[in-house]
Amino acid sequence: MWREAISKKLRLAIVGAGPAGIYAADILLKAEKEFDVSIDLFEQLPAPYGLVRYGVAPDHPRIKGIITALKDVLDTGDIRLFGNVWFGRDITLDDLKQHYNAVIFSTGAIRDAPLAIPGIDLPGSYGAADFVSWYDGHPDFPREWPLDASSVAVIGNGNVALDVARMLAKHADDLLPTEIPANVYDGLKASPVTDVHVFGRRGPMQVKFTPLELRELGELEDVDLVVYEEDFDYDEASKTAIETNKQILVIDRIFRKWRDEPQTGASRRLHLHFFAKPTEVVGDDSVTGFRYERTEPDGQGGVRGTGELREVPVQAVYRAVGYFGSPLDGIPFDEKRGVIPNREGQVLDDNDEQVNGVYATGWIKRGPVGLIGHTKSDAMETVKHVMNDQANWWSPAHPEEEAIVALLESRGVEFTNLDGWHNLDEHELALGEPAGRTRIKVVPRDEMVQISNKPRP
Ligand SMILES: Cc1cc2nc3c(=O)[nH]c(=O)nc-3n(C[C@H](O)[C@H](O)[C@H](O)COP(=O)(O)OP(=O)(O)OC[C@H]3O[C@@H](n4cnc5c(N)ncnc54)[C@H](O)[C@@H]3O)c2cc1C
Repeated sequence: MWREAISKKLRLAIVGAGPAGIYAADILLKAEKEFDVSIDLFEQLPAPYGLVRYGVAPDHPRIKGIITALKDVLDTGDIRLFGNVWFGRDITLDDLKQHYNAVIFSTGAIRDAPLAIPGIDLPGSYGAADFVSWYDGHPDFPREWPLDASSVAVIGNGNVALDVARMLAKHADDLLPTEIPANVYDGLKASPVTDVHVFGRRGPMQVKFTPLELRELGELEDVDLVVYEEDFDYDEASKTAIETNKQILVIDRIFRKWRDEPQTGASRRLHLHFFAKPTEVVGDDSVTGFRYERTEPDGQGGVRGTGELREVPVQAVYRAVGYFGSPLDGIPFDEKRGVIPNREGQVLDDNDEQVNGVYATGWIKRGPVGLIGHTKSDAMETVKHVMNDQANWWSPAHPEEEAIVALLESRGVEFTNLDGWHNLDEHELALGEPAGRTRIKVVPRDEMVQISNKPRP
């Protein structure tokens, strides 16, 4: 009798309130199904939205605006949010088994992938993810960022590399209308930077960034864009790419325009270097240069080394060579790829057998690539399996909705909820209003929790 009652209702835990987790909840709630659903969304931060809040650059308000759609999902009233709850510390897999039929992990990625070249650990050599977390006001990162370099190297040819280069080159006052926290504005304002060099291993027609992000670099106030003619001697593979790929065609047009444009004598320059394979971050006690090997097209759309080494004097290096997922307590983890091993979102153990009741979606499922929109189709795939796997769901001893609340309270976890997020959201919007800004982010975790949990009038 009791089991029958359970199978008519899916109590689902989702861990990670980034876009992947929120879309998964939305898709499940809207799906046609023969059982009721109640969803609890656990998030280690006091605020939801993952990398949309803490990754997307502050001067991309249109993308940040996706938060409005995600907020609408949370506001439907069918999802409970438990913010400031860390899976692995505040709740464990055993706890989830006691209270839910299944769990979806959507914990994304926050760390930088490693880059194994000499000097990468020198003071002055940074991971892009850490810098992004700083300028986006992530509560778990230091408030201060050492912006004392006049010349900087950014390694990578994806959108994150361009975000980092743009944030370094852009004048702080041009970021004032955005939601950047006060400490970030102050840090950027004091930056003595004059030259930001971006290095890509391959050619300009093999880049991973998108045309929109590239074009934006040429629109920065008082920043000259510098490209080097030696990088534009296209091989056959590049020419074919321009003819067959619309995105590459647009990228080529953008470069053509810049190649023809004279410098304006701006106070800052943003240089784009291609065919440059990183070989060393140079320096004794701190970064003094960046060394790379010139590459050339290999005729198949790739590149090979030429043996020619070059060095650019810089005082800071940022590597933007990808993000990497983190392991979760008790959950299988692929150390090489930084993901939870899975088959279409069904989590697999070491023997490739499905782990009952455990699912994954988003960046922790397929690796840190792709746009926010991709996490939606991804969530669809995972949710389909959750719905069809009823025979493999757990049978929790405490499925009542209040049981998990009691457990968190008994452990003294200071969790936030959806009302709390509304409090914080309103507070941040109000902070921005007098200055004509959309929002000013609150950064310290304890302050976020305190504002969230103050009683609503
Ligand atoms: C710098 C940067 C800029 C980007 N810019 C764009 C852009 O302009 N446009 C675009 O479409 N896409 C952009 N993206 C990609 C986009 O952010 C991702 O596609 C998307 O955020 C991935 O969603 P996710 O939910 O899988 O992971 P995330 O967004 O990382 O969300 C995961 C959530 O899980 C939480 N979590 C992690 N571990 C735990 C734990 N142990 N317990 C509880 N909670 C936990 C995290 O705090 C986080 O809130 C950008 C990405 C980066 C890194």
